Amino acid sequence: MEDITTMNRTYMKIGLIAVLMLSIAIPQVSAEDGAKNIILLIGDGMGFAQVTAARVYEAGPDGCLNMDTLDYSGYMSTHSQNSLVTDSAAAGTALACGKKTDNRIISQSPDGEEYETILEAARDNGKATGIVSTARITHATPAVFGAHSSSRYNWDDIAKDYLQQTKPDLLLGGGLRYWLDDTETGSHRTYEKLLEQGLSEAEALADDGLIDDAVAEGYTIVYNQSELDALDMNAEDRVLGLFSLSHMSYEFERDGTDEPHIAHMTEKALELLENDPDGFFLMVEGARIDHAGHANNITLNVHDTVAFDEAVRVALEFAETHPGTLVIVTADHECGGLSVEYPFESFPAEGEYIQDLDNESEYRDGIWTSGSHTAVDVPVMASGPFASLLTGRLDNTGIFDVMEEAMVSSNDTATELSAEVIPAISITVETSALDFGTVGAGLHSDTKQITIVNTGTHDVNVTAEAWADQNNFYATALRLNGGTVDGFSEGIPADITDFEYAEDVAASLEVPEWAGGEYDGTVLFVAEGV
Ligand SMILES: [Zn+2]
Repeated sequence: MEDITTMNRTYMKIGLIAVLMLSIAIPQVSAEDGAKNIILLIGDGMGFAQVTAARVYEAGPDGCLNMDTLDYSGYMSTHSQNSLVTDSAAAGTALACGKKTDNRIISQSPDGEEYETILEAARDNGKATGIVSTARITHATPAVFGAHSSSRYNWDDIAKDYLQQTKPDLLLGGGLRYWLDDTETGSHRTYEKLLEQGLSEAEALADDGLIDDAVAEGYTIVYNQSELDALDMNAEDRVLGLFSLSHMSYEFERDGTDEPHIAHMTEKALELLENDPDGFFLMVEGARIDHAGHANNITLNVHDTVAFDEAVRVALEFAETHPGTLVIVTADHECGGLSVEYPFESFPAEGEYIQDLDNESEYRDGIWTSGSHTAVDVPVMASGPFASLLTGRLDNTGIFDVMEEAMVSSNDTATELSAEVIPAISITVETSALDFGTVGAGLHSDTKQITIVNTGTHDVNVTAEAWADQNNFYATALRLNGGTVDGFSEGIPADITDFEYAEDVAASLEVPEWAGGEYDGTVLFVAEGV
């Protein structure tokens, strides 16, 4: 038990945090620190069935993939601004920027307004940034984090945005053919193709590829796993890895190549990014799950999903030893309309699921209902700071909102909090710590105003929490629109209290008395939407 005199001299602060959400999503909320590091892993085209198939193959029907072990999970709609069925560009834009756009557009509006990406926001918060993909690094999903373009097919524009605008500290993937000078084998930078990319005739003639430009921007360039492994990541500033001319190999077909696995790229990325004392943002894409879905090839699909899951393991192991790391695993959309069927009334033996399907080819071919993307929801799994917001029914724009919230909340200077899970609601909560200074015996009081504005069309739940970093205080009233909230009266800890609020209300937490004594210094209040 602490000495009362000592306690009374203690600087006392009361903070207040409020989190607001749609009634269809009821995140758990606690006052917690933000995320120093964010690792977002995207399985391109990885719907629920792809996860189930990979689990059955790799771990058995009762087993767990690494992605099954994250603390929170939900499900997410993926439609774009102009289509029920999204492509990777629009879906990625929603994940990267929190905004819907039309299919094929990279992180800008249909009329060309560039949207700030979470990677740019991280960079502007002093964090290191990285992009890892098994696709061409200028492909849609990596592009939405580090580029802005009217079309996902503007590979030259996208590569130049990486080098001149967003400058990620690390880029690992495929697609070397878009960077090589036309004189080199496999280059796509031919005169004709550069004209198609919007270069003038003079520019196309003078073009000598982008490798020199990357070197000029401080990138160390590696072309295979051996070169990647030879790097001392503590000594590197920026790294560009281009491990194949086009997409990297399917996991099932990569033998004999010197391409790093996605998990290995993730490990190396973390080695570089963790050098930044301000933390980092890293996006890792398992791109070829989608391509296997388009091809309706369950073998390629499962093996790439399992390989992606190994990258999840690497991220989770990093998070375990680096508190303050938010890990999110999700997909941009489903692809192939996959179902999980089994031709026998039994269970497949370990690792035999695909072979069993191969032996019953009508089943194997019949489990796909589409050669392209579908609009079914996709899984969301999350662990770490603010991960608890990612539960229940979500929309793909909500991933950005939570990442941004988690990142902003890790800044000591942040005074504005919002945890907007569904974009239909725009909510501002302004608050800062009440400061009672050094307190002695006797009574002290103060009042803190907060403003809650619901500009959306939905009712919301409001959860707010007040806390003190010192043990001793009375909270005698919580007032909303002038009325005192029932049940929020003397006594610490106060009980959670329900009340109603209408639009545009001001809430005040009034703590009029400070007295000696020993209490648990936590106050909670909860507002329910009407
Ligand atoms: Zn696709």
